[in-house]
Amino acid sequence: MPTRDYQLFVGGEFVDGTASRRFASVNPATGAEVASFVDGTVADLEAAVAAARRAFDAGPWPSMPVAERAQRLGRVLEILGGRVPELSAIEYQDNGATIRQATSFMVPGALGFAMGIADLATKFSFTSGQPVTTGPVPGGPFGSTTISYEPLGVVGAITPWNGPLILAMWKVWPALLAGNTVVLKPSELAPSTAMELARAFAEADIPPGVLNVVTGGGTVGEALVSSDHVDMVTFTGGTATGQRIAQLASGNLKRLTLELGGKSPALVLDDVDIESAVDGVIWSTLFLSGQMCTCASRVLVNARVHDEFVERFAARADKLVVGPTDDFATDLGPVVSAAARDRIEGYVQLGTEEGAVAVLPGGRPSGLENGFYVKPTVFVGATPRMRISREEIFGPVVSILKVADDAEAVQVANDTQFGLAASVWCNDRRRALDVAGRVRAGTVWINDHNMLSPQTPFGGMKMSGSGRENGESGFKAYLEEKVVYLDLTPSKNEHLWALVAP
Ligand code: NAD
Repeated sequence: MPTRDYQLFVGGEFVDGTASRRFASVNPATGAEVASFVDGTVADLEAAVAAARRAFDAGPWPSMPVAERAQRLGRVLEILGGRVPELSAIEYQDNGATIRQATSFMVPGALGFAMGIADLATKFSFTSGQPVTTGPVPGGPFGSTTISYEPLGVVGAITPWNGPLILAMWKVWPALLAGNTVVLKPSELAPSTAMELARAFAEADIPPGVLNVVTGGGTVGEALVSSDHVDMVTFTGGTATGQRIAQLASGNLKRLTLELGGKSPALVLDDVDIESAVDGVIWSTLFLSGQMCTCASRVLVNARVHDEFVERFAARADKLVVGPTDDFATDLGPVVSAAARDRIEGYVQLGTEEGAVAVLPGGRPSGLENGFYVKPTVFVGATPRMRISREEIFGPVVSILKVADDAEAVQVANDTQFGLAASVWCNDRRRALDVAGRVRAGTVWINDHNMLSPQTPFGGMKMSGSGRENGESGFKAYLEEKVVYLDLTPSKNEHLWALVAP
């Protein structure tokens, strides 16, 4: 039996909406239902959009100084900050992260990102300050131009299950700090912390309709994306879903930020310190059981160090503790669902059929049959053309590919439809920077991986998405840039008007 029952959060109220059905989130570690949610309808979604619209068009939020918005949102962070252990448990019971990951990264990281985004927003210049005197023709007519930044309106935010609170903060915080109002649609697999966020908004007395949260699946997601009353959609999820969203969002040409999937490479060059590279690449590939969008799932290793790297990597991966999510000794928890486990096992079988060799065979651990556990699989002998080297598996499956030199490493790294992230492992910084410069990915780390910050723009090239989150460009995505031109031409004859009305 689920232990928590949530409603929808619309116009500042918790409501049952019009839905006749509820659904449950399932703890991936045990298979037990943990919380129950309203399976929102299109009518519920429309009510949430209408509430957000009212809060934008007639409410105080868009015209408040940014410092006041930040201060009010700071109260939400204080409330959440007082509940970190409880929220961490809620998070890992929904999405299968480990207690170590949830308590040290997923929940505190979400609050840290929100604080960093608030810091960035309060330092942002919403106008160009002194007007600039401009004119289309040197010595001709001139005027005074002011450039200002205004909120877009209603933002629809759709998030995945793998970082529910942190990825909600990446969207909700900049959108609201910019003066927009938001309808959040969390993943149906892990919606609890989005509803806890709604509770904190209600407690912090944020004006009604500024944040609305509607739970449900793709149907409410599509209604949000298609709505003509929504001015922007910010989406994080799979590439196929992103493609569908791009089609649906075109009705009113709403703004779109898409943060999608990846097949990120880790490039291990031959002058590397193998022991520390092995540790680092384990983190790159297997954090969150390989279910982080940036996780490296292709490891491209220089032929000179390949065999030693493989031996040490497989031995190290084999020692990882796959176990219960509430145990601090656990390194890898389960994958998110039975369907995800089946998909991952299908890819492991496919890899063998394609001719790769599993030096670590994966499989299900014993004693954890109720949960959706899979042990890490390490393939060698994979080629760049194999499907296991090209498709996003989103699980603890790593393909190690042998490359002759840096040029081949870069060529294989770029031989993909994705371009989200990459890492280069190398002792020579100049060489590492050269290789990093040639890899086509939104973020390239050197001797590290998965390092993200509120100050740094994050996003993908190619089919890993469009637009950026975080950093100044991520914040500006939630603003309209507007020009006001004040005519200062002294006499009519000097006007360009003279071209048509001499
Ligand atoms: P998903 O695409 O299945 O679902 C993401 C969200 O979209 C969910 O809320 C879902 O309900 C909603 N949705 C599904 N169909 C929809 C539709 N037709 N219209 C509107 N909304 C719809 O992805 P997922 O399984 O939750 O997450 C895993 C994927 O997310 C992976 O591909 C991963 O790489 C990607 N991801 C990317 C980033 C990034 O920043 N680039 C971060 C995390 C995850």
